[in-house]
Amino acid sequence: MRRVYLDHNATTPTHPEVVKEMLPYFEEVFGNASSIHLFGQQARKAVDGAREKLAEFIGAKPEEIVFTSGGTEADNFAIKGIAYANESKGKHIITSSIEHHAVLNTCKYLEKQGFQVTYLPVDEYGFVDPGDMMKAINKETILITIMHANNEVGTIEPISEIGKIAKGKEIIFHTDAVQSLGKIPVDVNELNVDLLSLSAHKIYGPKGIGALYIRKGTRIQPLIHGGHHEKNRRAGTENVPGIAGLGKAIEIVKTSIDKESIYLTDLRNRLCSGISEKIDCVYLNGHSRKRLPNTLNMSFEFVEGESIILNLDMKGVAVASGSACTSGSLEPSHVLKAMGVAPAVAQGSIRFSLGKDNTEEDIDYVLEVLPEIISRLRAMSPLYKRKKE
Ligand code: PLP
Repeated sequence: MRRVYLDHNATTPTHPEVVKEMLPYFEEVFGNASSIHLFGQQARKAVDGAREKLAEFIGAKPEEIVFTSGGTEADNFAIKGIAYANESKGKHIITSSIEHHAVLNTCKYLEKQGFQVTYLPVDEYGFVDPGDMMKAINKETILITIMHANNEVGTIEPISEIGKIAKGKEIIFHTDAVQSLGKIPVDVNELNVDLLSLSAHKIYGPKGIGALYIRKGTRIQPLIHGGHHEKNRRAGTENVPGIAGLGKAIEIVKTSIDKESIYLTDLRNRLCSGISEKIDCVYLNGHSRKRLPNTLNMSFEFVEGESIILNLDMKGVAVASGSACTSGSLEPSHVLKAMGVAPAVAQGSIRFSLGKDNTEEDIDYVLEVLPEIISRLRAMSPLYKRKKE
């Protein structure tokens, strides 16, 4: 059976060149990067080299990069680290209602510790309004954290504009760029950010490694205490193979991002128009243009997203739904809910996230199997039958 992986926003396959780059650091170059002997120095060279590549790619200085265990830790570090280091100035944080749970649940945790958090609404496309943000700022505001691109619908937020406002008000600004890095340009100066989270496994790198960019001079408290690693900002022996892999993934994506963006936009549009032509009662979630090139989120009315996923899986196609299954009940996605999508429609939403190895044949295969799945599922829906009568 043909296998088509369309869940690249969840994770990407590790690039073979990345695996090749990592392997020596498990075997011959196994040293601890903090050791002063040759074994250690070889490992240190790999860590420093990757740091330089990453810093250059996002317009930062190498010393402004702190390696973490991934995007979730980077988000936690940014938000808690800034909150704890600056609480004497104020205890108010601004975020959006469509952030990843790595941000939302960190903010909720801080609320329990006496911080106040404003969750900004979004419009029907998932955009945060910088005007709303301006209004939410008060004397106590110490941090604004808004994601660069949304993982479910792909909407790209006006980060540069928000950053300008934050800078004018001298408020620290963090963005979660886990989904945007490697897909659209990410430059910390153009985006006007003080902190930026990223993760390797979304860009064909290994899982369990990421980084937080921290602009020089930003007051932040470390979350992990121990040795003096990462200039006292994140203790723990460095994940040398992971860091080397992240560096290689950056090196590869740097040369391919422009071409890939055009390729994936075309492929995604082929999928979107094919679905719209072949299936009725479908809606696009997110903005038609200001969106990640690889992401397509659609709602199929009168069907459950989970049923579509399972049926597509049986045909060898991997996609994700916009709903999270909690305690047996199907909760619609918080992102679609915030965008005002009706719960019944949101429950039938599917996220297709494409990657560099997908082909036109993959898309045509999905367009061949999906209409039959939808019509079979809808045959069981009295609501759909009533609509058609
Ligand atoms: N932020 C966003 C927007 C994400 O999409 C993800 C992962 O899906 C994360 C953070 C968490 O990253 P990681 O899986 O590296 O912890």
